[in-house]
Parts: sequence; structure tokens; C-alpha cells
Amino acid sequence: MNKRRSKETNGIVIPQWRRIRDYFRSLFPSREKTLVILYTTDVHGFIYPYDYILGRDTQWGLARVATLIEAYRKRYPDVLLLDNGDFLQGSPLTYYYNFLRKRGSHPVARVMNALKYDAASVGNHDIEQGPRVYNRVRRQFRFPWLSANAKVGRKRSYFQPYTIREFGDIRIAILGLTTPAIPLWLNPDLYPGIHWQDMVSAARGWLPYLKESQRANVVIGLFHAGIHPNANRPDWPEDIPEENPCLQIAEEMPGYDVILAAHEHRLYNSHPLEGEPDNPRRPLVMMAGSHGRHLGVIFLRLKKEKTGWKVVDKWGKIENARRESPHPAIVDIMRPYHQRIMRYINSRIGYARDTISSRYSRLKDGGFVDLIHQTQFRFSQADVSLAASFTTTYVLKKGPIRIRDVYGLYKYENYLYVVILTGQQLIDHLEWTAQYFNTVDPEDPLARPLINADFMGFNYDMAEGITYEIDITRPVGERIQNVRLTATGEPLDRQQSFRVAVNSYRAQQLRKRFRCPIVWKSNKEIRDLIVEYIKEKREIRDKTTHNWKLVPEWIVEKYIRERLERDLSAIRDE
Ligand SMILES: [Zn+2]
Repeated sequence: MNKRRSKETNGIVIPQWRRIRDYFRSLFPSREKTLVILYTTDVHGFIYPYDYILGRDTQWGLARVATLIEAYRKRYPDVLLLDNGDFLQGSPLTYYYNFLRKRGSHPVARVMNALKYDAASVGNHDIEQGPRVYNRVRRQFRFPWLSANAKVGRKRSYFQPYTIREFGDIRIAILGLTTPAIPLWLNPDLYPGIHWQDMVSAARGWLPYLKESQRANVVIGLFHAGIHPNANRPDWPEDIPEENPCLQIAEEMPGYDVILAAHEHRLYNSHPLEGEPDNPRRPLVMMAGSHGRHLGVIFLRLKKEKTGWKVVDKWGKIENARRESPHPAIVDIMRPYHQRIMRYINSRIGYARDTISSRYSRLKDGGFVDLIHQTQFRFSQADVSLAASFTTTYVLKKGPIRIRDVYGLYKYENYLYVVILTGQQLIDHLEWTAQYFNTVDPEDPLARPLINADFMGFNYDMAEGITYEIDITRPVGERIQNVRLTATGEPLDRQQSFRVAVNSYRAQQLRKRFRCPIVWKSNKEIRDLIVEYIKEKREIRDKTTHNWKLVPEWIVEKYIRERLERDLSAIRDE
């Protein structure tokens, strides 16, 4: 094992046996070959190593990963570079060049072209930017952008489904797929005419075609989806296919040599060791994090046999880019874009009279989420407003408010919608979203985390327009108590209909669950509406309304004092 691995360490010590072996190999060229696949995923606009929202340098970003990429290209002759989607959304940079400056070259396309990607897949957040954005960027790409299950009609795919790359006479097929749970989150306006086919059947359908008709020696699944299945959850809508089927595909279809996963922003590597006897038989599955923090590296060893090239070993590792310096060529490309974003992000829009922190925004009512509610009421004429806190780290400091504070407060590109819900549906939804908390035993309240790490924090809604309590000692489904209308103090009528202001993401979920009508849509994003609201008000104060609370309160206080900080570090929704 060690002898074999020394080849990948640094290549300084070359043992005698290897020199002899290499000499004999040189007499029979290209009977054996090592291919290196490099891959990035979920970069979310993090290219220049700078956090525009916090206003400081970062240890990550694609510019740092680029240095690693170059090092691998220098060391190995046969390198493939892939990206697994979600690069068009997630930072002020992408927002600005998607929506505020729509002409000219897009920085993401420029950088990805400069890095000479061989292919990329389409991610759900790329689709979220709408056809005007993804079609513009697609025209600028000098590499194929793949998604085989974005179907138009029965046969055609909206994006190119696969691509073939050749290294000598080795043919590598790369099949792109996108998580088909998109209709759960995104309004159909964002993907007109596209139907998201189930990934498992798409992966199964394409495999024999790529192997036989396309004579691929290696098949790589470039799948923008995760590895933790969701469709078995009781609240998963019947008509939405599995969101994260990568491991299922690996298990059912050993014909895939490599399956690159994405979407969950985690690290996973099924084949960490070279030379394990089982390696060639199972698909190598990898997930290489997010935000330009890591580079996935996969080695494929192929041997030429009578029937053609065959993978005889495969293994991989995930490299952290933290210690790399940003690649000078990428920094040069990015400099003018970076300077423009700095001017934009630092422009002043109002003044904060109080410091408003998001730290406990999901545990207690506070000014942070109430600012979102105020904005939603100001622009929507709703009876009730629902909003989640997308962060537990951002602090709006007393003093001038800048554009970047609004990104810190509200990090997603959502529109404001009004849906009609009955009182009963509203309570059912609050019960669903209260799954964010584990049930607490009052005899031993700190025994386990109060926060349920399996339920994403961005799904935990807080309401305004009603008053209520969440009893965390009771099981899921029986926690929401004492619900009253704020205006009258009357108990909530479960039969009555209410106009409920929500973000577009939540409207999509509620529509799937309750088939509730959407009666109004804003033509601006909530983040822009918050900017407008702050400009209108000029000054913002912490206006906590105290309309909801977790009970018993003593447990919450004790938890915040004694356990919360430890638990927050284990939570993965940021
Ligand atoms: Zn992502």
C-alpha cells in the first residue's frame, strides 16, 4: 500500500523497482494510464477570496482552488476538470451580474472559461436565477453545461445531456443530472416548458446508450443532487421524485465508474484508499463541499485489455484550498468586478438606531425577523406574515446601514407572495415548521440539543399578525398553543381564510402541501423590498413585538446560557 501511494505523495523519492517498471512500460506504451478528474461544486459565486457581506478576506474561493487545479495539471498529463452546479447564485457578485448589470461578460463565465472546465452540470440555484440569466451565461460558456433530466416533451432535454472527452483512444462520457425536487422550491416561471425527470430512471436510461452506442470506457455521473434521501419522509409530496438519489444510483448501477454528488455542501468520499480490491467494482461517490473550499480529486487507473480500456482501480481525496494563495490570473480577471461590487455593497441606505443581532432569532422573537415582517406587511396587504431567519450569525450594527447589511439579513433571492390559508392550515404549517425543535424533557432539559439538526433552519417560520406559543415539551404536531389574532385578541378561527405573506420558496412548499391559491406576487425580490423599506423609514429601531414565544421560557433561557453555542456549531444550514 505505502509503496503504491508514494507515487501520489510528492514524487521525490523514486524507488528502484519503479524505475525498472517504468522502463519496461515505456517499451509497451499506453497499456496503462492514470486519469485525474478534478471537480468543484456549489461554488455559489465565491471566486475572489473576499466575503462582501462581512467585509473581510476569506480562506476559500475558487481563486484559491485554481492554484490547486494548476498544480495537478502540471503534475499529471491527463486531467479532466468538472463543476457540479450552483455557481450562479449565492453572493452579491452573482446577484449584481445576474440582475443589475445584464450586459457584457459574466464574471462566472469568464473565470470558468479561463480555468478551461471540460463540463459542468446545472444546479437548482442556477435555474432559480431564471431563463434570462442561465441562457445568457450558457451562451458565454466555452464548455458544455449538462442536464439530461431537464426534459422538454418526452425526448428532448433543454440542456445538453452528456458530453464525451477523449484521452488518446480512451472515451469518457460525462452525464449531467439535476435534482428533480426543483418544483418543490421554484416557481414554474423559472423553468418554462421544463419537466424534471426522476434521476434514477434518467441515470438508468442513459447508461447503456453511453456504454454501447457511445463506446464510453468510463462513465461519470455529474449529478447536482445529494446523498441523503428525503422522499421517504412523511411530509414529502407524492409527485416529487427523490431529491438526493446519488447513493441509490451508485448501488443500483455499478456501470457508473464515478458519481459526483453536490447540493448538500458536505464532504463525502467512498473510495479513500488506493488498491482496495473492491474499488473497481463499486462506483466512486464523492461530494466536495461548497463555496470554493475544496477540490475533489479522483484517480482512475485504466488498463488496455483485448476488449478495450478498463478501469482497474480508482480512488479519491478531497483537498482543502485554505492554504493556497489565490491564483494571480484569476485575481486579475476578477479585479474590476471585485471593485465594482465593493462600491455597490458599501452604498449607504439608512441608519440603525439599535444593534440588532440574529443570534437568538429562532429562539425568541426579535427585531431581526420583525424587520422582515414589517417589510412584508408594508408591501403586501396581508393579514399574517410568515418569515424565517436565514442566519444566526449576522449582526446589524448600530450606525449606517449599507446594502451589504441587507444581504447579511436576507441571503436568498426570494420574491414576496400572498397565499390564502385557513386558520387550520396556518396552525398545521406552524406545527410542521416547529419540527425545528426537538422535544424537551423538563426533568432533564439539556439532555439533548433543543435544535433538530435534521430540519433546515431556513424552513423554520415565525409568524406576525397572530400571537402564539410553542410548547417544546410536547411532541411534534401538538405544540402550537393559544393562537390569537393580534389585532382583536380573539382566538384564531380555524375555518376562516387569511391572506398570508410568505417568500416565494415557502409559497411553493405550501402550494404542494395544501393546494392553497397564490393571490399576489411582488415584482421585486424581498431583499430589494427591505432596501426600499429602510430607505423609506431612513431610521430603523429594534421593534420586537413579542407576539410568540417558546415555552416553558425557563428552559429556553437555560439552554441559551448553557448549551446553545455548542449545538450551533454542529448545524449545517449556513
Ligand atoms: Zn448549493
